[in-house]
Amino acid sequence: MVRTRFAPSPTGHLHIGGLRTAIFNYLFAKANSGEFILRIEDTDKERSREEFTQAILEGLKWCNIEWDEICYQSERNEIYERYLDKLIKEGKAYRCYCSKERLEKLKEEQLKRGENPHYDGHCRNLKDYPKDKPYVVRIKLPEEDIDFFDHLHGDMHFSYKEFDDFIIRRSDGSFMYNFTNVVDDIECGITHVIRGDDHLTNTAKQIVLYRLFGKKPPEYAHVPMILGEDKTRLSKRHGAKSVLEYRQMGILPVALVNYLLRLGFSYGDKEIFSFDEMIRYFSLDRLNKSAAVFNPDKLIWVNFEHMKMMPPDKLLGYLRPFLDEACLSFDDGYLIEAIKTRQTKAQTLVELADEIRFYCKPPEDYDKKAIKKYVKASTKEYLALLLEKLKDADFSSEQALEGIFEDVLKRFDIKMVKLAQPVRIALTGRGIGPGIYEMLMVLGKDETIRRLERFLNVVF
Ligand code: GLU
Repeated sequence: MVRTRFAPSPTGHLHIGGLRTAIFNYLFAKANSGEFILRIEDTDKERSREEFTQAILEGLKWCNIEWDEICYQSERNEIYERYLDKLIKEGKAYRCYCSKERLEKLKEEQLKRGENPHYDGHCRNLKDYPKDKPYVVRIKLPEEDIDFFDHLHGDMHFSYKEFDDFIIRRSDGSFMYNFTNVVDDIECGITHVIRGDDHLTNTAKQIVLYRLFGKKPPEYAHVPMILGEDKTRLSKRHGAKSVLEYRQMGILPVALVNYLLRLGFSYGDKEIFSFDEMIRYFSLDRLNKSAAVFNPDKLIWVNFEHMKMMPPDKLLGYLRPFLDEACLSFDDGYLIEAIKTRQTKAQTLVELADEIRFYCKPPEDYDKKAIKKYVKASTKEYLALLLEKLKDADFSSEQALEGIFEDVLKRFDIKMVKLAQPVRIALTGRGIGPGIYEMLMVLGKDETIRRLERFLNVVF
């Protein structure tokens, strides 16, 4: 059974690079009827913070990335101890008591000789362990080259000479990333590791650990980084936001997931994917080999497309946090009708909330430019006649409303814009908005009449 994992360190918010890694792992697991594990790598006590863990969980939940299991490295010390003891007993790892001063001197000498700095194995064969002296634990690096296959990079080869007896446990007793990462991947039965290609060298070290443990490594796919417009690795400097900031901007989670997926994956020319399609079409051989540039405008476009496609009642669920008091006091049925009239016009939930506000709250003032352009002295007459006729109209039929407007146009021999625009301004306060008849039908007779009367009183 396929088991993947996302292993964030809670030392910062969940950023889009991390979310994309989570998405790939989640989709690969689900595309193969497998399981997706969330592992919080919180062994760095100084830098890990509970609030970041919470933000990571919240960001993933919001994106519908559901995990089948969750574990916290901070609760797994006993397991690491057990694996470490075994390595030491088997002579595959050893305690190193070298002082900082010795290591610094060693490094200096090696650099002078033109060598890459590396540990010289000084403590490899110690017979007596000094008591009360701090030590780190190092592995005994086997003198064998390191090969592994990567689904994106192909066959990878590292000479063992690029590495040394690297540390797996620090002198304060804490374990190093590569060690806990491998122990957990073994313990959790992880079959595939998908992560950023900044981890390729770590993978070589991790392969060494698998060898020492006598275990088979998982399969790997190291995905390219996301870049900013200037082609350097995407960071805060480029205005990259945490995942939850995109929620605040009014982006739908499915749109963010879709956008991030497409940023490293292609399926022909297809741009817009439903969540089910993402699971159905995902495969490692469709992952892109080259890095992609993050484009905020395209994210907005993808969001726009998803907003258009989403059933209005579902959209209302996402829209609710953006609605103000006035709108929240209306029932769902009314709000859904309102949404339907603007759903294909708004690019974000923030915009949609703004676009439908007038349905819940009469305009307090009227757009001056629109008034200047569309409201003339003669408009009063047109509106007055329309108002009279609307009082007897059937607001549940578009044809009936259309008939009334046409009567007024004919009576004064005017074009639709001369009537429709003033009506639109009277009802919404603005010169742009939904189609006239659909808007009247949603607002209903009483409210339409009230707003037209007020407009006639205030403007003329
Ligand atoms: N905690 C590591 C990170 O956030 C995990 C990397 C991995 O996926 O192995 O970079």
